[in-house]
Amino acid sequence: MRFEGKVAIVTGGASGIGRATALRLAAEGATVVMGDIDAEGGAALAAEGGGRIHFRPTDVTAEADIVALVAAAQELGGPHLLFNNAGAGGLRAPIDEIDLAGWDRTMALLLSSVALGIRHAAPAMTALGGGAIVNTASVAALAAGAAPTAYSVAKAGVRHLTRMAAADLARHRIRVNAVLPGFITTNIFASAMELTGTVRDTANAMIAQAASNAQPIRRAGRAEDIAAAVCFLLSDDASFITGTDLLVDGGLSVGPRHSW
Ligand code: NAD
Repeated sequence: MRFEGKVAIVTGGASGIGRATALRLAAEGATVVMGDIDAEGGAALAAEGGGRIHFRPTDVTAEADIVALVAAAQELGGPHLLFNNAGAGGLRAPIDEIDLAGWDRTMALLLSSVALGIRHAAPAMTALGGGAIVNTASVAALAAGAAPTAYSVAKAGVRHLTRMAAADLARHRIRVNAVLPGFITTNIFASAMELTGTVRDTANAMIAQAASNAQPIRRAGRAEDIAAAVCFLLSDDASFITGTDLLVDGGLSVGPRHSW
């Protein structure tokens, strides 16, 4: 029960990594305020949370929604913890084919949202004597082959924003770290291709198989693998860790396993 008495904000918890993390935080004693644009998934999570998870409809690209999410956590006595995680695939184009509107939308969703989350949660955490923040970046922050250009640049921005925020906020006893998932089986890829139903399930299975073939630990990454890392970074077990990024990628970034 590492999070007994803590109030945590989680964004993008209606699905995938955010959902697994919200459930684990609640299972370890936290009260969770979860913000997502998916009202149906948010309500389902809250129902599963046994009274410990509160859903608040939130678009992380809207500053007023983030302010309201923080206020909801304040009403519950927090926030002590923040997981900036909401995201989607973003603009799919090489740099010589981007359009500015698509580029800006991707940055708003994946990078500015994280800055705004920190901007508005940090003063509330400071008033409580400190806190911990984790931001979801990606292996795409490091490697060119993992995702489209706009997404990868935004995630690289999240990685450096994490360092800057760690430096800025240490004086308020707020730690800020990033998690860099490899390929994790969630709906993010199918959503980017607008696939649903059984086609989506088939695509998810094919992506999981291809990803696990490319990494030394030959199994698909699970949302729970990321949730475990996020909860470590949010917990007092990581009390001397700030400004770091934790790769959770089955070894993808060290290259494929060879048979010799
Ligand atoms: P997912 O699609 O399962 O979950 C993403 C959630 O974010 C959804 O519930 C969605 O409704 C929500 N969301 C999207 N836009 C939003 C907005 N404007 N406001 C509020 N909520 C919004 O995907 P996931 O894989 O769990 O992705 C979570 C995070 O992990 C994302 O930031 C993603 O970029 C990152 N990530 C995922 C992988 C992977 O392999 N799945 C790898 C690296 C990084």
